[in-house]
Amino acid sequence: MSSSCVSHHHQAVRPRHGGRLPLPSPRSAAASSFAPPAPRRRRAARAATMSAEAAPGVAPVEEAGQRRVAVLAEMVEEAAVWCAVHGLVVGDRADPRSGTVPGVGLVHAPFSLLPARFPASFWKQACELAPIFNELVDRVSLDGEFLQAALSRTKQVDEFTARLLEIHEKMKAINKKEDIRLGLHRSDYMLDSETNSLLQIELNTISSSFPGLGSLVSELHRTLLNHYGKVLGLDSKRIPRNWAATQFAEALGKAWAEYNNDSAVVLMVVQPEERNMYDQYWLVSHLKESYGVTTIRKTLAQVEAEGQVLTDGTLVIDGRAVAVVYFRAGYAPADYPSEAEWRARLLMEQSSAIKCPSISYHLVGTKKIQQELANPNVLERFLDNKEDIAKLRKSFAGLWSLDNEEIVKSAIEKPDLFVLKPQREGGGNNIYGHDLRDMLIKLQKEQGESLAAYILMQRIFPKASLTPLVRGGDCFEDLTISELGIYGAYLRNKDKVILNNQSGYLMRTKVSSSNEGGVAAGFAVLDSILLTDE
Ligand code: ADP
Ligand code: MG
Repeated sequence: MSSSCVSHHHQAVRPRHGGRLPLPSPRSAAASSFAPPAPRRRRAARAATMSAEAAPGVAPVEEAGQRRVAVLAEMVEEAAVWCAVHGLVVGDRADPRSGTVPGVGLVHAPFSLLPARFPASFWKQACELAPIFNELVDRVSLDGEFLQAALSRTKQVDEFTARLLEIHEKMKAINKKEDIRLGLHRSDYMLDSETNSLLQIELNTISSSFPGLGSLVSELHRTLLNHYGKVLGLDSKRIPRNWAATQFAEALGKAWAEYNNDSAVVLMVVQPEERNMYDQYWLVSHLKESYGVTTIRKTLAQVEAEGQVLTDGTLVIDGRAVAVVYFRAGYAPADYPSEAEWRARLLMEQSSAIKCPSISYHLVGTKKIQQELANPNVLERFLDNKEDIAKLRKSFAGLWSLDNEEIVKSAIEKPDLFVLKPQREGGGNNIYGHDLRDMLIKLQKEQGESLAAYILMQRIFPKASLTPLVRGGDCFEDLTISELGIYGAYLRNKDKVILNNQSGYLMRTKVSSSNEGGVAAGFAVLDSILLTDE
């Protein structure tokens, strides 16, 4: 439970923004929200039902609290309208067609009503890391031997990784070279309150989500603070501009231009059902409007049924040449329900189309490679600049393979200080606490290679704060922690680096009692940041 989590880590519960309106004391707010048997979620404001009037004769603090509630209620309504008229929307679970039919069953994306405070120094640090990680991914992707060796044991016990490696192996065997390489990455971080440092959670090299909706949330918050910032004591100028959608579209557009075939299209590989389709359609729309580039959307199964590779290497789908394959699917085993989907992946990899990501870039983003790169002297194999190496290393949390008996022993003793991760993407896979201990004991007993399917990571403890979250038109205040994702775009053609940029950001905020972080998976809300001096 949240309350025990907070006291356990000796963190004071702070409201996200004190502002000028005095709040009820944080302590009492937390107690009313989280101490059992009170309900975990306190309804802070519901636009239609909240009263703006303070009852006559109530104490000033209470009155101020009620005023704040009234302001928040007004903001919730304005925000919900803003989402609807600006396309900050997702498919609604309640409508069965919302994941397949565009324009049907839309609901505003879950969001935080106020941006999360984030120290400017850590923001700068995270932004500076983006081009360095981009370059690192590119360098590591070229070292096929390293990738195969580092994943050789994982392969024995993880069927999905084995299938990816098999494609990689086939490309190595035919000496396939990717001259034009496009990376659209998102490096995720949390601020560890124990060490006061910015630590990387993971680096996504495939299907980095929310460039479209993430940039809109920054705009939403800017608009809200332009209207309510004065009364809340918050300055909208402290929200960094976020051009993630246009910057990713620019990278895709420039990659398309490098391919140099005016009639070719961008192929977006998607899941058959996708309630986050509007995030993707934002890129489609920018690509068309700014670069005149057409995007087609296909599932892996459709690619298999409709696609072919011509003798000159051209990938053709539906009679159209493909310049860039942009994956918004294909990162999880569930994306490959049959052999057809694997054939599609292989077909695209064999073609001359630019893949975002290529199989090599995909593998570089695996958790096992993240752990390998954190080993001593590994970064030095790939990068020359000592300062860059030091910056990367500073952002690495503790990462271990399960060969390390000492660490496994400490994790069994103190499971709360670790996270156990399998080789999976997309949320909902990590193991914590008691389950982590039980799993390690079980894996040890099995005595086989099964340990190689996981890595252990130092658990990061961000400071929790009280945050108003809006979901389905309702606002709840809850204790939350946040994860900052920094987008990076990288494009090169042989020796020419065309783009290597930090490309916007995404803050995701989740109730601190939840271990997982996915927005699409229902654990978190979209957020932006408000830079602070501390
Ligand atoms: P996925 O590929 O499923 O997104 P992540 O490594 O990002 O895997 O983990 C999912 C979520 O678990 C993160 O968004 C974060 O909320 C939480 N998490 C992951 N690693 C840690 C960690 N070391 N400490 C604390 N929380 C973590
Ligand atoms: Mg993640």
